[in-house]
Amino acid sequence: MTKPVTGNRAKNVIYMDYQATTPTDPRALEVMLPFFTEAFGNPHSVEHAYGWDAEEAVERARAEVADLIGAEAREIVFTSGATEANNLAIKGVARFHRERAPKVVSVETEHKCVLESLHTLEREGHPVTILPVRPNGLVDLDALADAIDESTCLVSVMAANNEIGVIQPLAEIGALCREKRVYFHSDAAQAVGKIPLDVEAMKLDLMSISGHKLYGPKGIGALYVRRRPRVRLTAAIDGGGQERGLRSGTLPAPLIVGFGAACCLAGEGMLEEGERLGRLREELLGRLWGAIEGVEVNGDMERRLPGNLNLSFLGVAAEDLIRAVPSLAISTGSACSSASVESSYVLRALGLREERARSAVRVGLGRFTTPEEIAKAAELIAQAVIKLRAEGSAAAQ
Ligand SMILES: *Cc1c(COP(=O)(O)O)cnc(C)c1O
Repeated sequence: MTKPVTGNRAKNVIYMDYQATTPTDPRALEVMLPFFTEAFGNPHSVEHAYGWDAEEAVERARAEVADLIGAEAREIVFTSGATEANNLAIKGVARFHRERAPKVVSVETEHKCVLESLHTLEREGHPVTILPVRPNGLVDLDALADAIDESTCLVSVMAANNEIGVIQPLAEIGALCREKRVYFHSDAAQAVGKIPLDVEAMKLDLMSISGHKLYGPKGIGALYVRRRPRVRLTAAIDGGGQERGLRSGTLPAPLIVGFGAACCLAGEGMLEEGERLGRLREELLGRLWGAIEGVEVNGDMERRLPGNLNLSFLGVAAEDLIRAVPSLAISTGSACSSASVESSYVLRALGLREERARSAVRVGLGRFTTPEEIAKAAELIAQAVIKLRAEGSAAAQ
């Protein structure tokens, strides 16, 4: 057997990139392990005990995922993650309604997988309206209402943004969509397990969830698909007809079991954990503001995920700052463009000047963040900013 690739470069590096991914909670990993080995059955094997055990565990997990969002178990379709769930929801609904109501409405700050799904639909001839957002990152409800017409089948607005953590008014959007009789989908990858969400109260018809954003394993997620009134959509993967025919393929029972456990854990301490992260965030921001000038918060500070900060350090290019603090895992938050000099399309959608957008860094706190780490991070960032400003970082030129 070849040696596993587990470098130890991340040793002693403080992780503050919880919007990129989260570690699997050890308690979730624990319940997954037997399903790789002794309980390895195919959950679709209906003729013997191996299959029954795997199936029972998968169905328990389905109920756990459903519980967290106020849904019924049979409304949960397992997918490989939120990317696949978003593709299935958006293309699936639009393609099913291609003849009578082909149009989809969404917003500029959506995740790339939503925007690219919309581009694919456009190439297929679907009308697509992508609305701008206000300077605080929130969708303009009047503009949204105006954009929905007779030919619209679907509105897709994310719950919380992955770069700036801004939380959209889902209940208001849901009420509007129900009134206008269009389906409402939300990419809730960043929000599920972090803030209370309820598919009934928010009148959601479809919602995408990702396991690895809520302390579950990578490679698993779900699409909530409402049954009453029934959402009609076209499948993306054909095969044995699993998952109500919407997503064929053998279900990865170990991942699903871990995902279910992670949903349970997230639901248990959600409010307390949100308050704890909010306090840690205030502490970090207070320390930075105390130590250096020219620190600005991007995106609304009130309607925001408790574990998210997106900060511009004026006069300092984000990539320079990130490189200057190698013992801190922070990012620009726009993974696709982080290798290039182009600034984030999310920040540009807020109308930020190029210089401010290019100096923006995302700091993501999470379940394993400690007050000691906050103090250390503030010190490292402040020192690096002072040094880079003295040297004249690229963003200042
Ligand atoms: C991470 C993320 C995704 C993609 O989720 P995967 O499960 O990794 O495919 C989609 N949307 C948002 C908002 C995300 O943060």
